[in-house]
Amino acid sequence: MSVECIFCGIVSGSEDASIIYEDDLVVAFMDIQPVNPGHALVVPRAHATYLADTSEHSAAQLMRVATQLVSAIQDGPLHGEGTNLFLADAKAAGQEVFHVHLHVIPRFSGDNMTLRVDYDPPPNRSVLDEHATTIASALQKEA
Ligand code: 5GP
Ligand code: ZN
Repeated sequence: MSVECIFCGIVSGSEDASIIYEDDLVVAFMDIQPVNPGHALVVPRAHATYLADTSEHSAAQLMRVATQLVSAIQDGPLHGEGTNLFLADAKAAGQEVFHVHLHVIPRFSGDNMTLRVDYDPPPNRSVLDEHATTIASALQKEA
């Protein structure tokens, strides 16, 4: 565990947090600066800086618990009009806390969260096919 990692502190109980759920693999707690009320985070118990550092079991449990949280939040008084699951993997993607975490964010139309994209003209099919082939062959090496 990294001594300076705030989420490791929450997992170990040395840092305060409003815990929703914990098991052997993951811990879920309220985000300290929620986009909307009910904004939760799910983190692997074992420190991992990036998603690729997370074990397959922890990553699967991260998604399983996040999916359950979506329903739990949406079925209760903190529900939004919709939900975003969001994971910032590395600084360029907006990651600020370098311990993997999956955001579960209740959303309302016109709320304060934006993810703006200025799209380039879409690539043609041959470019998309080429990218699909590149990723598919890398995926085979991962398996
Ligand atoms: P990121 O930009 O890395 O995806 O998001 C980091 C999130 O962690 C932010 O939404 C931020 O509010 C939350 N956060 C940062 N420090 C703490 C903390 O000490 N406790 C809790 N509960 N959340 C935190
Ligand atoms: Zn950590």
